[in-house]
Amino acid sequence: MDSNQTIIDFENVYVNYAMTTVLENINLKIKKGENWVILGPNGSGKSTLMKLFSNDLYPNTQYPFKKEIFGKDRWDIFELKKHLGIISNGLQSRFSGFSPSETAYEVVLSGYNSALGVYRHHSFSDEQIKKAEEVMKFLEITKLKDKKFAQMSSGEQRRCLIGRSLIHNPEAFILDEPTTGLDVKAQYSFINTLQKLAQNACIILVTHDVAEIFPQITHAALIYNKTIYKQGKKEDILTSSNLSKIFDADIDLGSNCGRYYIKSIKF
Ligand code: ADP
Ligand code: MG
Repeated sequence: MDSNQTIIDFENVYVNYAMTTVLENINLKIKKGENWVILGPNGSGKSTLMKLFSNDLYPNTQYPFKKEIFGKDRWDIFELKKHLGIISNGLQSRFSGFSPSETAYEVVLSGYNSALGVYRHHSFSDEQIKKAEEVMKFLEITKLKDKKFAQMSSGEQRRCLIGRSLIHNPEAFILDEPTTGLDVKAQYSFINTLQKLAQNACIILVTHDVAEIFPQITHAALIYNKTIYKQGKKEDILTSSNLSKIFDADIDLGSNCGRYYIKSIKF
């Protein structure tokens, strides 16, 4: 397989925080054309794995490992972020903290400079402005154009952050627990947006919640006991017995038209 077709290629990756190992022997290959869910309980290491994808963290060098993103082991972080759209609670909090009064339009435009807002020295070409407007239309956030970040709902904020990364037409999106904190309607509509993104980019969805998995997801990796317990085609991986193992409870998993739900749970 052409390495250009591989988004993530990890072999034997370990991660430590100080003296504690939080991920062990991670082997994972994600190819273009696939959409993945990384599923695991709270504290299992999902966000840590995500920070490896975005190069915000580096593996423990004590073990021989392979860690390639889009076929390269070294990346300029700004360059990488043009290829990878990363949506996390961390980014949302940084905007809330540092740039509460940026409008939706400014948040989207800030993608050009990978900045936390639009500053006086930033200027944008007509083409860039046109693209930002197209992105807002695509995400159905044009009506938020002048709304300040701090005054938006959590779902609206997340949509703006997606708009900010769409500026670069990334080949892949990584979303960490994207619907956490959204009410049912906002959750439903956000998942529709993810399905739209999946038309043009690979989606890597990191979550503890099977309800976030949408039909276009093709593959699953289950995180358990600091490593990937199972991975492969979602039909083979998203089973009651595998979920019971990783969540340490007796789970009966149901599915309907590519959406999943917990029918019952006993512990
Ligand atoms: P998840 O996203 O699956 O909830 P995390 O990747 O956030 O899990 O965390 C995995 C483990 O690493 C947890 O035990 C967590 O407490 C620990 N951890 C996460 N971040 C840090 C950090 N910066 N320093 C020390 N320990 C951390
Ligand atoms: Mg997490």
